[in-house]
Amino acid sequence: MAGEVALRETALSERLLLLTLGGETPGTSYGANCLAFAGGEATLLVDPLIAPAHARLVEEAVARRGFPPVRQVVVTHHHTDHALGAGWFASRGARVVAHGRCAPLMAAQHPAMVRERRRQPDLAALFADAEPHLPAVTFEDRLTLDLGGAAVEVLHLGPGHSPGDAVVWLPSEGTAATGDHLFSGYHFNYEEADRGLLSALDRLEALPARRLVPGHGPAGGPERIAEQRRYHETARRLVAAAPDAEAAGRALLAAFPEYLLPVAVGTAWPFWRSPEPRSP
Ligand SMILES: [Zn+2]
Repeated sequence: MAGEVALRETALSERLLLLTLGGETPGTSYGANCLAFAGGEATLLVDPLIAPAHARLVEEAVARRGFPPVRQVVVTHHHTDHALGAGWFASRGARVVAHGRCAPLMAAQHPAMVRERRRQPDLAALFADAEPHLPAVTFEDRLTLDLGGAAVEVLHLGPGHSPGDAVVWLPSEGTAATGDHLFSGYHFNYEEADRGLLSALDRLEALPARRLVPGHGPAGGPERIAEQRRYHETARRLVAAAPDAEAAGRALLAAFPEYLLPVAVGTAWPFWRSPEPRSP
């Protein structure tokens, strides 16, 4: 299946490469972004896509650019489109890093998801060699990674899209890889989101980043945060005004007609209807 998809490569700088298969289905990792950063001695990957076949496309692209070997992989959260490719790089000697609340969710969810996808005829080949993998290193608030002459900060800005969200801050590049705190041109998946998601966006905005790489969609500047706030505010308002979940979903589709991942709009209703914050 991987042979039928094409990896899009965007050189954000000499040392920074953005890789995605685009689209909105498992066969293209739901369009998740993988970011490669070349340090002096090692390459860091953020979110190595959904399966080994896609991870190998990333590995080949990074090697073609002359980047050093991939030694560090950060998983921004436990969703498979960002995390399941990590096992491939671990098997090649890379160290996988995730937040302390991300790792148990990987352990709890990935085995059944892999089994389920192997049962689907159109996905069986892609997931045939996908194996659940647990991070070697977890962190709580902040972790510094040394790639040889280039330091990288891995930050937890609070739960937002998921309980164990991580953001990778690359000071030398003025760039933050935000994971699914930000979607651009995609509907937001609120399935496991936290009411702290707006506070997490405030903390993201406090970083001196001039470039933001969302979990899905094109990189941009600080306007990406404003776009995401506008989406959340619109979803909150439409859910409050709608008589039921179906009507809320239709209204959200109509408000953002060009957005990918329409299947995610159903997650807005339970999230914005929930009377209490899900965490302090
Ligand atoms: Zn996600």
